Amino acid sequence: MDKQFPTISATHISYYHLCYRKLWLFHRTIKMEQTSDTVYEGKLIEEHAYTRRPSRWRELNLGYLKIDHFDPKEKIVREVKKSPKLEHAHVAQVHYYLYMLEQAGIPEVRGLLEYPKHRRTSEVYLTDAIRSDIRGWEAEIQRIVESPQCPPLVQKTYCKTCAYRDFCFV
Ligand code: SF4
Repeated sequence: MDKQFPTISATHISYYHLCYRKLWLFHRTIKMEQTSDTVYEGKLIEEHAYTRRPSRWRELNLGYLKIDHFDPKEKIVREVKKSPKLEHAHVAQVHYYLYMLEQAGIPEVRGLLEYPKHRRTSEVYLTDAIRSDIRGWEAEIQRIVESPQCPPLVQKTYCKTCAYRDFCFV
């Protein structure tokens, strides 16, 4: 792992792809997600999806990286989401899991991105182009979160379900 960016999590990567303002707020540990119905519902879906599936999944906690579903035998990371509306951010999050695992000496892991409500699953792989992109994301995230100024509000469709909407639209 690049020692210059030890505090960047997969959540940082995901928010970087959604909204710089959200990323900045999250980094300052204003964790309003804990009170968000959308996030709560997502967690419920995750807990109850595929309950009849054999328990192949283990939690992997490397301290700086926590992955809820890891199959060490098949080397697969699984991420379960409610809706594919923000799929580009979900894919980036899984790419980052794979990248961080590789940095930790666990190479050739593939990702499964699942949307149980939509009965949809896609596979996610790391490539050299993605590795290069991730290094760029890390540098940009570092720049954004270190800024003393909160990034300006840029309204988007996603705002209405964002956990920070009360902060942005008082
Ligand atoms: S409400 Fe909109 S502008 Fe504010 S943090 Fe969320 S996505 Fe960003």
